[in-house]
Amino acid sequence: MSLSTLVLKPGEADRLVTGHPWVYGNSVLRLTSPVADGDLVQVKDHRQRLLGTGFYNSRSKIIVRLLDRDRIETNEAFFRSRIAAALAHRRRWMPGATSYRLINAESDFLSGLIVDRYEDVLVVQISSLGMDRKKALITRVLQDLCAPRAILERSDTASRKFEGLADSQGVLAGDPVGAMQVKLNGLTFETDLAEGHKTGLYLDQQANYAAVGELARGANEVLDCFSFLGGFALHAAKAGAKQVHALDQSEDAIAAATRNAVANGVSDRVSFEAANVFDWLKSKTALGPNEKVIPRYDLIVLDPPSFTRTRATVPDALRGYKEIHLRALKLLKPGGLLATFCCSHHVDRVLFEDVVLAAAVDTRHTLRRVASFSQSPDHPVVPAIPETEYLKGFAYELVR
Ligand code: SAH
Repeated sequence: MSLSTLVLKPGEADRLVTGHPWVYGNSVLRLTSPVADGDLVQVKDHRQRLLGTGFYNSRSKIIVRLLDRDRIETNEAFFRSRIAAALAHRRRWMPGATSYRLINAESDFLSGLIVDRYEDVLVVQISSLGMDRKKALITRVLQDLCAPRAILERSDTASRKFEGLADSQGVLAGDPVGAMQVKLNGLTFETDLAEGHKTGLYLDQQANYAAVGELARGANEVLDCFSFLGGFALHAAKAGAKQVHALDQSEDAIAAATRNAVANGVSDRVSFEAANVFDWLKSKTALGPNEKVIPRYDLIVLDPPSFTRTRATVPDALRGYKEIHLRALKLLKPGGLLATFCCSHHVDRVLFEDVVLAAAVDTRHTLRRVASFSQSPDHPVVPAIPETEYLKGFAYELVR
């Protein structure tokens, strides 16, 4: 098969040479022959040195998503080896897990493809035109390698629009699946994989749930802020924390989290409250002139949604992060622990810790860092592709 060649302008090859897979439209010098959107092309620098092969789409700002540094074909053998490698990575780094992200796009050298495994069901999410064309092939290879009960598609990301793709949801193999029980670290979580349902599951915190559970061992009082389905709260209770209170503004999430607490036999130790975390923390810490804040928690978890999707709104996001840290620190007992996470790609580890420290300066507290967290190993970080890293977290002891 002869492939068209896309030649880059001088100076545009460096990022690709270091292993980043995206070619932007404005770095293209020329195409040697016409290419249809979704086709495979080879990419060369202006000296004709091969940089790799990938899917082309003129409608996208990312005009080529490289799949390999060499010349390849996107045939069954290609997908079989990539998917088998992804599976081997999870088996190596999360040997006990039965639910995890099986393929995480760029992290697994399959830009445009995400596959989550929920027990014996796979959920596929495709975000590029080239990958979309390979859906049937990918489905077949997944059936072969994983033998799932069903393969569902939930391709509904905003990025599909930029690739000229409509949303696509449904059953790719097997029978429809609705509500099911998913195991994370031996705890049961209810999730509904059916179309349009709100209670999906964040898999990227699986390793951190276990780690924070350990921090909660022996705690009297734990506060889980932005708890969603109760991931941190339930792990804390299971580890032996005596009283866990969890907050989320979504009534649906609180209802599901409450059912999860019952399913795991910890409902006597966990309480859930539908509340805005900002307002709740404020009500406990902004008191009248003669009132005193009583620090009561041994562990506080902060795992908010990303406060910023763009670089431009980072300053606003930082104010939000500082605010919740400031108030949380006031509610923490001396010797207590703060486990805090940030899933915004635009706020890196250093900037995030700066915000925590700024809050500690304002409350006149001294913090000692006792743990650093990243996303679970099923969301692998490839340092050459900075976009693959987004979740960071720290645990601090409030020394005084
Ligand atoms: N800790 C969770 C993930 C949190 S995702 C887990 O481990 O699964 C962010 C959650 O924050 C969502 O459930 C959302 O409903 C909630 N949320 C967003 N803004 C909020 C606010 N201001 N107050 C309370 N909850 C909020």
